[in-house]
Parts: sequence; C-alpha cells; structure tokens
Amino acid sequence: MKLSVVIPIFNEAEVLPSLLAALHPVLEGLGCVFEVLFVEDGSRDDSPTILDAAARADSRIKVLQFSRNFGHQAAITAGLDFATGDAVVVMDADLQDPPELLPAMVQKYEEGYDVVSAQRVQRDGETAFKRATASLFYAIMRKAVDERLRPQVGDFRLLSRRAVDALGGLREQHRFVRGLIAWLGLREAVVPFHRRARAAGTTKYPVWKMLRFAWTAISSFSALPLKLSLYGGMALTLLGVVYSVLVLYETFVLRTTVRGWASLVCIQLLFSGAILTAIGLVGDYVARIYEEVKGRPLYVVAGGRNLGEPAWPARA
Ligand code: UDP
Ligand code: MG
Repeated sequence: MKLSVVIPIFNEAEVLPSLLAALHPVLEGLGCVFEVLFVEDGSRDDSPTILDAAARADSRIKVLQFSRNFGHQAAITAGLDFATGDAVVVMDADLQDPPELLPAMVQKYEEGYDVVSAQRVQRDGETAFKRATASLFYAIMRKAVDERLRPQVGDFRLLSRRAVDALGGLREQHRFVRGLIAWLGLREAVVPFHRRARAAGTTKYPVWKMLRFAWTAISSFSALPLKLSLYGGMALTLLGVVYSVLVLYETFVLRTTVRGWASLVCIQLLFSGAILTAIGLVGDYVARIYEEVKGRPLYVVAGGRNLGEPAWPARA
C-alpha cells in the first residue's frame, strides 16, 4: 500500500523544520511506500524555500505551489487532487495533529474503513474562547446540518482512495471539507487523540476567518437560515395583523389615535430591521450561487516539485 500525507502550508516557516523531523521516523516506521505532499498556499515567509530544499533532497517529498493564498480548504482539496496514495491523510503543519497517530489510523484503514477521523479528546494551548466557540459550532452544525458530522473532529483524517475519488467529484466553490466527507456517508472509524498546542508560530485562523468558515459551513449545507427568516417574517406579519385590529379599534371606537407616535417609530424600526436582515440573507445565498455559476477553478497552481498529474484537474 502507498500512503500520502497532505499538509497545507501558510506561513509555517517556524514550524517546518520540526515537522519534517517529526514526520520522517514515523513514516519510515510504517513500512509502506509513502509521499508527503505539501500544498504551499501562498506563504509570505520562507516556507517555499524550505519546502523546495526538502523536496530536492527527497523525491518522496512533493510540493504544490499555489499562485496566491486560496485558503485552507482549497489547499486540502488540491492536496487530495494530486495525492497518489491508496490512502491519504490530511494534517496540520503545526504538529497539533501528531504524526504518531498515523499507525493507528492506517490500521483502521486496513480493517476496511474508508474514513478514519481523529477526534480531539483534549485540547491544549487553545484559548477558552476558541474551545467554547468550537463546541457551539459543532452543536449547531449537528442539529441544523448533519448529525453525521462528528464533534471535535477537524480536518485531520485518513481517506481511502474510494473516499478521495468520491470527494474529488464535489467541486463546489465554498468548501466545508469535513461536511462534504460526512455527506459521502462512507464507513467511518474514529481514533481519539490529545491535541497539543502549536509547536511554533501562531494560528492562521483569526476570529474573522473562523466566523467566515462557520458561515460557509452552515450556508453550504443548509437553507435553514432562509427558512428561519421566512418564519420570522410570517410571525411578524401575524403580529402586524393583530396590532392593526387594535389600531382600527382605537381609531373608530375609542377615537384616541393621535397618540401612538412612539409605537409607530418602534414598529418602523423593528420591521425595517427584520426586512433588511431577510433581504441580506437572501442576498448572501444569491452571491454564493453567483460564485458557483462562474465555475472558476478552486485554485491556481504556479509551480511544484516531484508532482504528477492531478486525478482531478484544477478546472473541473
Ligand atoms: N492554512 C492554509 N491556508 C490558510 C490558513 C491556514 O493552508 O489560509 C494551513 C496552516 O498552515 C495549517 C492549517 O491550515 O497547516 C491549519 O491552520 P492553523 O493550524 O493555523 O489552524 P488552527 O489549528 O489554529 O485552527
Ligand atoms: Mg493548528
């Protein structure tokens, strides 16, 4: 069997030497053919130089160079497109996903699982805020989107060739890869692990990127927000009808209508807010359709080393 390890890289020069050092003994110890495929996602530091040197020294180290930063999920997709292994592992560069877990994952693969997910049973070195928002995120996603989505499972997983090929056919622009994998519905095993702190460098996921990621996850798997805005609009309409009856009663029976400026203002504010929110929400989905219709490639390759042809061309 041949194992591919896909690692997206964005400004990881600080951690790359320890990553390369940690990977090597584990992979040699597996006793199978392997390749390590680095997807260089437009770093602005020394990562490309370090990777290039590593790839020159060992032809099993492959580098795919993006023309600019296309983002983590696009980098994972490109890695899966270019990986040639019978099984492919996707992991972070920062050693938060420990290479020592690879033998356990490969064993599950050999037992016949198509997807082997690594589940974080403990998380170090991450802020309470990140842990809390991550739990909330998984809770919402499981309720609203797909209960097959496992809590505390990130992008660290092994995929069989069958899973990689199936995933390769899903070329949507706004990608939530772990959701796409859950959508495949293939046989999945879970391997628990202890997520340590980053070995070096800082997180490449600031809060705004996390929010954007969470919204991509929800909107590309669920129209629930649209339905909620529909139901909200219907509830407000109902309230409007009830209140109108009251107003008509005041006008024609009590004849006390001059007062009521405050209620008018409140209603005006509330309703225009609700309407704009609903329109904005619809607009967001329309914008996503627009992105999809353009059918642009998910990434552009500017170069590479030790690479073959991709199973899935950059332009599907
Ligand atoms: N990454 C990437 N492109 C980006 C952002 C991140 O390729 O635009 C890579 C990054 O180099 C790392 C992985 O994605 O290998 C996960 O990022 P990070 O460890 O910073 O995220 P965290 O673990 O803090 O959520
Ligand atoms: Mg990380």
